[in-house]
Amino acid sequence: MSASRVLVLNSGSSSVKYQLLDMTDRSRLAVGLVERIGEETSRLKHSPLATGGAARETTGPIADHEAALKAVAGELAKDGLGLDSPELAAIGHRVVHGGQLFTEPTVVDDAVLAEIERLVPVAPLHNPANLTGLRTARALRPDLPQVAVFDTAFHTTMPESAARYAIDVRTADEHRIRRYGFHGTSHAYVSRATAALLGREPEDVNVIVLHLGNGASASAVRGGRCVDTSMGLTPLEGLVMGTRSGDLDPAVIFHLMRVGGMSADEVDTLLNKRSGLIGLCGDNDMREIRRRIDEGDERARLAFDIYIHRLRKYIGAYYAVLGRVDAVAFTAGVGENAAPVREAAVAGLESLGLAVDGGLNAVRSDAARLISPAGSAVAVAVVPTDEELEIADQTYALVGTGNA
Ligand code: AMP
Repeated sequence: MSASRVLVLNSGSSSVKYQLLDMTDRSRLAVGLVERIGEETSRLKHSPLATGGAARETTGPIADHEAALKAVAGELAKDGLGLDSPELAAIGHRVVHGGQLFTEPTVVDDAVLAEIERLVPVAPLHNPANLTGLRTARALRPDLPQVAVFDTAFHTTMPESAARYAIDVRTADEHRIRRYGFHGTSHAYVSRATAALLGREPEDVNVIVLHLGNGASASAVRGGRCVDTSMGLTPLEGLVMGTRSGDLDPAVIFHLMRVGGMSADEVDTLLNKRSGLIGLCGDNDMREIRRRIDEGDERARLAFDIYIHRLRKYIGAYYAVLGRVDAVAFTAGVGENAAPVREAAVAGLESLGLAVDGGLNAVRSDAARLISPAGSAVAVAVVPTDEELEIADQTYALVGTGNA
């Protein structure tokens, strides 16, 4: 019997999300989450989907990622799905920043760990947590392939014209400043799923993917390869997000430091944590913003309008980048659920072949679906993303067949 299970780990600074999948039918055997690692009130929530049992929740101190992973292993073992099982083929890890080197999912060894470590200065919030997850899982099962799946990998096909900032080349190269892009696992999955929805091969289809979650990014995908994306050196660039500003004149930063007396760290926090929708209106949840708009709240209305204005600019820009667009795909929390966002994003763009059918747009569903009127020149689609499944697929493709 060949090993056919893959554990997917997404390690954050104080959390670990996990899913165990059976790759023979790509079903979920268990999903869960450890939160508030390092605090007294850590919480582990585990859903044993394979057994059909009720979700289990435990609270109490979980000191670090090693303790967290051991607790997860304990929960899985209760369901007969322990990490020591010979059926486990590999562990697939989400790693946010893979720089220019990692263009593919990669089996982790010491050299790979060192390179991920070298990228910490360009991903100080994410890569350290991802590294901790990798090291912990490796210590627990040293014999098992640990595969790093990078958020940046899908974007490494961007041409230099899109990937470089127009700054002094030597300075940029010295500090590895270029546009890397993020959410790549989602953009890869959704662009392929959109082609499938159209009944076509990814190589034949040009897609604008709009990943609109709390973090948000757009990408232009030509024939299955990313040619531009809205996030850059860090996830701060591009669209208006839940708490991030997205694009702004870089001189705003000097101004805040010189005239506003703020430190670099203070500006960093302002732009990453206190800007975007939350900075504009005090809420970052699109449901709450829509509710406030319905009650006539002007600040919420303006925040929504700024969000939509930026989104439409990127749709237009990527239309020009691609030349021919076959589909625009909405995904992630806002993209999958917020019909008013989808409607406003393409309103009045019939001359570009873009339109949304009000009835189709209002349907709530977990399935990938078209929301453009029949016969539209460009398909507009809602395509639920599944980053865990994509990580599992990429991991299994790399190691699955070799395991006996
Ligand atoms: P994500 O980062 O993909 O998990 O997306 C989270 C965001 O999706 C939340 O902050 C909300 O703004 C948004 N969201 C989730 N559900 C809905 C919904 N039913 N309607 C509108 N927005 C939603």
